[in-house]
Amino acid sequence: MYCLDQGEKPERAGSYADHGMVKAKQPHGPPMTLGNMRELGVRGLAVHCLNHACRHQAIIGVDDYADAIEIPSFRHRLKCTKCGGRNVDVRPNWLEQPPTESLTGKQWR
Ligand SMILES: [Zn+2]
Repeated sequence: MYCLDQGEKPERAGSYADHGMVKAKQPHGPPMTLGNMRELGVRGLAVHCLNHACRHQAIIGVDDYADAIEIPSFRHRLKCTKCGGRNVDVRPNWLEQPPTESLTGKQWR
């Protein structure tokens, strides 16, 4: 003789709340624009060639470009002057930023 213990199981409370499964996604805000960058005191873009055989780096001035231009859009506009590759990384030239923030105690306003 055996027993089917249906209907006697306690509800597994909270089994739907799999907090451990929730991935911490990075907030995905709008891309930084040249205007945002200038507000932070940076007026140039640091461009890195992602071709490992080349690794050319350059700083380009963007004073002639409008504030509304998104920085990631430069990746499609630029190409490496050394190897001609279009696989470049573009980011604000943070080295220009006035040293008001320490690297260890970063403050975002
Ligand atoms: Zn290159």
